[in-house]
Amino acid sequence: MSTTGLYQLTEEHDAIRAAVREIAERAIEPFAAEVDAESRYPIEAQKALTAAGFHATHIPEAYGGEGADAIATCIVIEEVARVDMSASLIPAVNKLGSMPIILSASEELKQKVLPSIAEGRAMISYGLSEREAGSDAAAMRTRARRDGDTWVLNGTKAWITNSGVSEWYTVMAVTDPEKRANGISAFVVHRDDPGFAVGPKERKMGIKGSPTCELYFTDCTIPADRIIGEPGTGFKTALRTLDFTRPTIGAQAVGVAQGALDAAVSYARERKQFGRAVTDFQGVQFMLADMSMQIEAARHLVYVAAARGESGDDTDLGRLCAAAKAFASDVAMKVTTDAVQLFGGAGYTQDFPVERMMRDAKITQIYEGTNQIQRLVIARSLLK
Ligand SMILES: Cc1cc2nc3c(=O)[nH]c(=O)nc-3n(C[C@H](O)[C@H](O)[C@H](O)COP(=O)(O)OP(=O)(O)OC[C@H]3O[C@@H](n4cnc5c(N)ncnc54)[C@H](O)[C@@H]3O)c2cc1C
Repeated sequence: MSTTGLYQLTEEHDAIRAAVREIAERAIEPFAAEVDAESRYPIEAQKALTAAGFHATHIPEAYGGEGADAIATCIVIEEVARVDMSASLIPAVNKLGSMPIILSASEELKQKVLPSIAEGRAMISYGLSEREAGSDAAAMRTRARRDGDTWVLNGTKAWITNSGVSEWYTVMAVTDPEKRANGISAFVVHRDDPGFAVGPKERKMGIKGSPTCELYFTDCTIPADRIIGEPGTGFKTALRTLDFTRPTIGAQAVGVAQGALDAAVSYARERKQFGRAVTDFQGVQFMLADMSMQIEAARHLVYVAAARGESGDDTDLGRLCAAAKAFASDVAMKVTTDAVQLFGGAGYTQDFPVERMMRDAKITQIYEGTNQIQRLVIARSLLK
């Protein structure tokens, strides 16, 4: 196996982590419980991240962005998720929505969209899934047909993160039904485009601060030059995007798990039963040790996968990114569940953050491809 893309954290990475942690603890964490309880958008987080330039660090300098590498972007997402998973979807989905453009759009389209995201004037969402086409995304039914100097879109996308708050939407639609996956194209839609509408918010188990809605396209008409790349290349672009963004879901998972472990350590230190701190019991110590081990292993795998994408060496990229996403999210589910356990009855109440973290962690096993789909990707790579 090639070792290209193995990583070395730099002083700059450490400085980014320290800066984001300070912002997260000061300007994001105090609102996290309220954002969850009221299912409201974490606007304070958006403002704080944007003011510090951490809302979309991955955008290249040529388009007014920070040009941060993939590990730096993971660190930003991880540190925000440590205090509030919903807020971590701001940098994460800005990357997800814009990667198709960065990877495959014309220079004109890049110049049109990317600076507005880099400057924090706009956010961008990613519209691939449909109600009847989730894991089997190529079975999508949203259509786009060329009409003179325009493309006209019809259909519905489902479960689209940050819809309503995003100005831009990367949307995959069928342009040639005969060709199935090779007949899908990618487009950029603006929320003011005629025929575009956002549906009501889904009522969810977790990440309640991040709006998830349907997108409706009813003869939605966009200029012809808003296609990303050539007609028929949209599905490839959509899948290639996931190779660069699955590590960011891994980073979210590592972050929420770390937040839960930190909370569990500080609670268990203070909690006394049988006349002593519960941390005196080896049963508790071993749980904490396991949580710490699993998080550390997940963090390294996430950084290795991110570094492989950054290296330009695609060898094994899909397998590593799928492994990072699936492993880290399985760890997040286990660690947050164990954190609730370590809090005892208190962990089951909304007086402490761990019940929110456990609910939030669950989505990392589902979106950007369920963990069953990640395992399919890994197995296909092994068996090809
Ligand atoms: C909160 C939230 C936010 C989301 N954000 C976005 C977004 O921003 N953009 C976007 O495009 N999508 C988004 N999604 C959609 C998400 O990516 C899909 O829900 C996910 O890919 C699974 O698709 P599905 O829900 O249709 O499940 P299904 O495909 O119906 O799967 C049902 C079950 O069958 C299993 N399964 C399916 N096929 C196989 C197989 N071949 N082998 C083994 N098991 C299989 C699945 O793992 C799952 O357990 C979001 C979803 C949620 C809930």
